[in-house]
Amino acid sequence: MAITNNRLTAEQYEQNFSDIHPPFETKDAALVEANRCLFCYDAPCTKSCPTSINVPKFIKQITTDNMKGSALTILSANIMGGGCSKVCPVEKLCEGACVFNLMDEEAIPIAKLQRYATEKAIAEKWPLFNRKPSNGKRVAVVGAGPAGLSCAHALSREGVDVTVFEKESKGGGLMTYGIAAYKVTPEFCEDEVNFILSVGGIEIKYNQELGKNISLEQLQKEYDAVYLGFGVGIARQLDIAGEELSGVTDAIGFIYDIRTKGYSSVPVGDKVAVIGMGMTAIDAATQAKRLGAKEVTLVYRRTQDEMPCTEEELNIAKLDGCEIIWLASPKQITGSNGKATHLECNIMQLGEPDASGRRTPIQTNETITLEVDMVIKAAGQMPYNDLISSNHLSNSGGKLSIDRSSTNIEGVFAGGDCVNGGKEVVDAVQAGKDGAVAILSFFTQRR
Ligand code: SF4
Repeated sequence: MAITNNRLTAEQYEQNFSDIHPPFETKDAALVEANRCLFCYDAPCTKSCPTSINVPKFIKQITTDNMKGSALTILSANIMGGGCSKVCPVEKLCEGACVFNLMDEEAIPIAKLQRYATEKAIAEKWPLFNRKPSNGKRVAVVGAGPAGLSCAHALSREGVDVTVFEKESKGGGLMTYGIAAYKVTPEFCEDEVNFILSVGGIEIKYNQELGKNISLEQLQKEYDAVYLGFGVGIARQLDIAGEELSGVTDAIGFIYDIRTKGYSSVPVGDKVAVIGMGMTAIDAATQAKRLGAKEVTLVYRRTQDEMPCTEEELNIAKLDGCEIIWLASPKQITGSNGKATHLECNIMQLGEPDASGRRTPIQTNETITLEVDMVIKAAGQMPYNDLISSNHLSNSGGKLSIDRSSTNIEGVFAGGDCVNGGKEVVDAVQAGKDGAVAILSFFTQRR
């Protein structure tokens, strides 16, 4: 067994990482689906969208070939509506709420229609938004992820001059660096960021990290307000023996490498175990398989009823040939010559529900051992505790505490994953909009 890169031909990589949700092949195909929509009053699809996109309106605009109007309907509610059409778990949001489900019929393919409506607008940078003349206010945004970019765009439209400080060399955050490449390509992410910037009034300073190249104190002095959207990024450790062995890695780093280095450059094992059952675990497992791993096994300490990923994501992993072991929790990783060779797991059973309502896994006396050469940890993310405490930001377990987007420090606002601990892209976009509203109100009150 060995961990190696370059396992497949260029064509195989291309095929394995091609778009999992291809667009409509023809305009007629889009129109057929758009015309099925009942244009519901008080539409449940809109209510279930965290950014409240007016779904029946944008679908109606498609049917009348008003593509600019349709794109504007979507993007004015969600400036990352193009990317969200590819990465949102729509089965538990808009499409899950579509009334066709009640009639046991296929839900309207809202995501596919949303993609149809936005794709051209983003690729061709349609000038859909006007920016008001500069009002002299300057805001620093920390993080060019969905929350930061959404906040920056909403502020810029109101005439605020925004500077975004991003620690990576590209914008997009989770969308660019943390999602399976077969869902959204790096090229699309770049187009989406450029589209957002095309409104004007937003400058992104790359390779600038809070706590390293810039300080909160400095930003407070130089800007009229600061918005923190720095996300969560540190992979949670398993705290078991053998974690230091070669071949043990974390899903965030693994996915980051796939997105930044190119498929053939990322090493993968023959026998891969992935710990966890969230979206990141699924993205790591499926991509390990698509990079050429022979066997991939997802290990989760609860059952399918408690898994954080959606059924749809689970099905992607199953279709890719990933195995799943439920009710197993890592106990130790053993190896030889410094390399991981076995993952031993405790067999669990479920007890009473915990505070989150999910039943608590309890260790039994039984164990199982898997033969492995690679272990990918996807057991959640840790907040930036040092950054938060050194800046005296109120928090709850490392998640920033806010009151209508405002932190405990006057003029400092926050939103997205650094507040909620890691939710969907669409939640972060809404948080960014809320942050912009709070900042504008802060300016009004101080007049
Ligand atoms: Fe159309 Fe379904 Fe939304 Fe009703 S719930 S407006 S049918 S997409």
